[in-house]
Amino acid sequence: MIEVNDLHKWYGDFHVLKGINESVQQGEVLVICGPSGSGKSTFIRCINRLEEYQKGTILFDGKDIHDPNVNINTLRSEIGIVFQQFNLYPHLTVLKNVTLAPIKVKGMDKKAADELGLQLLNRVGIHDQAHKYPAELSGGQQQRVAIARGLAMEPKVMLFDEPTSALDPEMINEVLNVMKDLAREGKTMLCVTHEMGFAREVADRVIFMDYGEVLEQNTPSEFFKNPQHERSKQFLKEIL
Ligand code: ATP
Ligand code: MG
Repeated sequence: MIEVNDLHKWYGDFHVLKGINESVQQGEVLVICGPSGSGKSTFIRCINRLEEYQKGTILFDGKDIHDPNVNINTLRSEIGIVFQQFNLYPHLTVLKNVTLAPIKVKGMDKKAADELGLQLLNRVGIHDQAHKYPAELSGGQQQRVAIARGLAMEPKVMLFDEPTSALDPEMINEVLNVMKDLAREGKTMLCVTHEMGFAREVADRVIFMDYGEVLEQNTPSEFFKNPQHERSKQFLKEIL
């Protein structure tokens, strides 16, 4: 579904991604971990073209995402993203946050969009918050709105960039549980997260990045039991 070949990116002189090769199959759940500054966010942001890159290719469903025939709005509706900071529209209600893109981008009529929105809010467990504004919600609730908003475009792939790291501890699980449900339903997901319990439970593969490279990858059970690289051993020692 996604094929990343020899992906390189520089910020000025700074070589941030140094030749990433990955392939992601439909229904796979990947967890990407690694120290701060290792390039995890930059990598996943390249996949829906929130970042440009200078060398290498990314194929989505067999097509280069930089092909002139690829419409960037279509690409981003097929590859949704949820950020650490929820990035909700503060002046719109929860329901409108979810229905905006289906109405604007897909041309869905308001009634159908509202129905879909309520159904998705129900799925993430906050059906009763639909008519509030984001500032009236807890962090965990806001993040679940962000996930519902991502799902509203019926993406084939969801990217998550540390979706729980801005949350108070008691709210982390409510977001992880929504993500676990998605994983079990077969959604293709790339998750930058240091929630290793989540990785153990639902990841098919854990990728460890450092200094812009993938240093190792394995099934979660092997990765945690038997990390190969000195730096992944060190990293696991620090976070577990
Ligand atoms: P974290 O765990 O802290 O989120 P990360 O692994 O997601 O880290 P990135 O945000 O991808 O790391 O950043 C990788 C490197 O690129 C870092 O050294 C960062 O300082 C640098 N970087 C990121 N964005 C920019 C930018 N816009 N301009 C210049 N350098 C940048
Ligand atoms: Mg990051």
